[in-house]
Amino acid sequence: MPNATVFPDKRLIAFFRKNLLEWSAQNPRPMPWKGERDPYKIWLSEIILQQTRVEQGLPYYQKFVAKYPEVGLLADAPEDELMKLWEGLGYYSRARNLHAAAKYISDELGGTFPNTYTDIRSLKGVGNYTAAAIASFGFGLPYAVLDGNVYRVLARFLGIETLTNIPAAQKQFAALAQAMLDPVKPAAHNQAIMDFGAIWCMPQQPRCTECPLRAECRAFMMDKVAELPLRSKALVKKKRLFHYLVFNHQGHVFVRKRTKKDIWRGLWEFPQTDGPVLASPLGLGELSVSKPFHQLLTHQAVTALFFEIYLPDNIPVEIFKNPLFEGCMRIARKELKKNIAFPKVIDCYLQNIVLTLD
Ligand code: SF4
Repeated sequence: MPNATVFPDKRLIAFFRKNLLEWSAQNPRPMPWKGERDPYKIWLSEIILQQTRVEQGLPYYQKFVAKYPEVGLLADAPEDELMKLWEGLGYYSRARNLHAAAKYISDELGGTFPNTYTDIRSLKGVGNYTAAAIASFGFGLPYAVLDGNVYRVLARFLGIETLTNIPAAQKQFAALAQAMLDPVKPAAHNQAIMDFGAIWCMPQQPRCTECPLRAECRAFMMDKVAELPLRSKALVKKKRLFHYLVFNHQGHVFVRKRTKKDIWRGLWEFPQTDGPVLASPLGLGELSVSKPFHQLLTHQAVTALFFEIYLPDNIPVEIFKNPLFEGCMRIARKELKKNIAFPKVIDCYLQNIVLTLD
């Protein structure tokens, strides 16, 4: 069995390349961005699809391409407009990085997308995988992609029994993916290996019995298909509880934009308090509490409670100088969902109370 130091030989590499490309020709998997050569659109699709299922990302890709057909239009878009378009897709740092990189390309590179792996990799939000995808699909450069599908296909085909979800594995698998890459047809090879992992050599019930790689697949020969790739135990998510104050006054509520450098920067939220609220914080109006709402992030499990406070119409305006309203914008309830973007957990709450948003 190959291990961290043993490389597949030429014969095995040639077998893999040939059969993978033949499989791909016989099993087309149409996608709107397939065959796309415009690096800007490839970049958009790759960023949108990071940590996102194709079915979920597809409408967002179509919306972005329609709204910003060129990088300069994306660069000039107002941040709130961009975040609103991204709303519901999660991992908002992707949208912020997309915007920053578009501005850089537009302002510093005269609107021309970089055409070397190194320059593409240096764009904000572009990692090794995305750089390889753009370099190969957009410019035909020989850089191998490495995503979850590629890890699985290589771990099984080559019978690699090292953990794949630890940082040290990345170097090993990146070198193997590069060795297996067809340097003459890097775009076709990269697409084929990802498709193969997605619809053939899947995590559960891979189609081994009819697989064109079976004759040389180490995992199949050793009866280890179900075991590979090896992964360390799942991460334990940190639990977070947020308490939001939803002040209602004359059909309006108060929201503020998050400016802290975290994953929700640029999104909007209600004012927060440190703990549960037992009486109206201002000593005025009626108080009610929502049911809990939940959102799972990569490292955190977020629960949010919304304390709704209905302020009397005729309260003195000085009340709004209270620090609880600092940085807040007053917005009509029925306008809330129109132009600004919220973290998913707040969005779920707003959808839940949609009938009262009038
Ligand atoms: S034989 Fe099975 S495990 Fe091996 S590459 Fe084919 S589908 Fe994947």
